[in-house]
Amino acid sequence: RRSSLFFWGPVELQDHETSKPDHQPPLPTAGIVDGIAGCIGNTPLIKIGSLSAATGRTILAKAEFLNGAGNSPKDRVALSMIDAAEEAGLLVPGRGDTIYEGTVGSTGISLAALARARGYLAHICMPDDQSAEKSALLHHLGAVVERVPVAPITSPSHFVNLARRRAAEHTASERDASRGFFADQFESPANYAAHLRTTGPEIYRQAGGRVDAFVAGAGTGGTVAGVARYLKEESGLGDAVKVVLADPQGSGLYNRVRHGVMYSSTEREGTRRRQQVDTIVEGIGINRITENFEAGRDLIDDAVRVSDEQACRMARWLVERDGIFVGSSSAVNCVAAVVTALTLPPGSQVVTVLCDSGTRHLSKFWKKIADSGLEDEPKPDNLFTLLDIK
Ligand code: PMP
Repeated sequence: RRSSLFFWGPVELQDHETSKPDHQPPLPTAGIVDGIAGCIGNTPLIKIGSLSAATGRTILAKAEFLNGAGNSPKDRVALSMIDAAEEAGLLVPGRGDTIYEGTVGSTGISLAALARARGYLAHICMPDDQSAEKSALLHHLGAVVERVPVAPITSPSHFVNLARRRAAEHTASERDASRGFFADQFESPANYAAHLRTTGPEIYRQAGGRVDAFVAGAGTGGTVAGVARYLKEESGLGDAVKVVLADPQGSGLYNRVRHGVMYSSTEREGTRRRQQVDTIVEGIGINRITENFEAGRDLIDDAVRVSDEQACRMARWLVERDGIFVGSSSAVNCVAAVVTALTLPPGSQVVTVLCDSGTRHLSKFWKKIADSGLEDEPKPDNLFTLLDIK
C-alpha cells in the first residue's frame, strides 16, 4: 500500500477511507488559547544542567522569555496593569485611550502588544541608552516611542516623569473623549500582584514545593517582591526559603540590603552626576526604593553583587554548555544563583529567572561580549575560575 503522505501524484483513496462514516464526532480541541493574552504565564522551569553539575545543587530557571506576547516577565505585569485599569474604569475599550509608560523597554513591549489586542494606543518613553532592538520592536508594534537622554529621577525629563506628564496632558486636552492612562510599573501594586498571583505559585508547583532559595534582580522590584511574598507568606515555606537579590555593579540596592544604606559601589549617594546605574546590564539595578521593591523589602535575606564581566562570562557559558541564549539580566541572575547555591547544602534547590532572550541584546550586551574577545577564548571548563568565585 502506498502512503498518501509520501505520494506526490494524485492520491488514490483506500477502501477504509471511502467507507468512513459521514458524520464523525469531532476530535476534542487541545492547546488553543484566547488571543495573545492567552500566551502569558505557565512558562517552563528549566533545570540548567551545567550549573547544577558544577555546584552540586539543582539550579532551576523560570523561562520568562517564553511568555508569548512581549517575551518577558513583563507580559504578566502589563496584563495585570491593564486589567486593573479596566476594572477601575481608567481604560475603556473603544474610547481611543492611550497607555503611557516609562520603561527601559520590556514593559513597553508587553504593553504595546496587549494595547493592540485590546484596542488601545501605546506611548512609550524610554532612555536613549537602551538597546536599539527594543525601540525598533516598539515601533513595529505600533507604539509611539520617545527616547530621551538619561536624566536623574528628580528631573522632569526623566523617562518615567515624562510618561506621567504625557498621560496627564492627554487627559486634560479636550480634543476628544479619549483618556491617557499612566501605567506606572514602578509604583503600581498591580505589578508585584501579578507575580504573587502567577509566577510565585507556578514556581512552587513546578519545583514540587521545594525551593531552598529564590534569586532575582530588581528593576521595579515587582518580580522579587511578588515571588518572595508568595513563597514566604502564602506557600507555607516561610523562612525555609532564602530570598536573594541579584544586583549588577553600580546599583544601590546591594548596599541597601546588606548594610541598610543606599549608595552604589563606585560613588557615594548624592555625588552621582546622573544617578544612573553604571553597568552594561539592562532592566535591573536601581538607585532608589520603588513601591514594588518596598512590597518585598523585608523578605529579602541577602544580596549578591555581580560585575559586568561575570555577567558576560556567564552568558557565554550558558550558550556553550546548555544552548541557552539570554540577555544581561538573566546572566546576572544566574551568577547570583550559583553564588547563592554554594552557601546552601549540596542537593539544595535554587530557583532563578531567565528574563529575556539574547536576541533583544545583540547590539549592546552581545556586541560587548564579541568586542571583548570573550567569544574567541577557548571553551571554559571551570565555572568557578571563570567567574572568579570560590
Ligand atoms: N530583566 C529585564 C530585561 C527587565 O526589563 C526587567 C524589568 N525592568 C527586569 C529584569 C526586572 O524585573 P522587575 O521590574 O520585576 O524587578
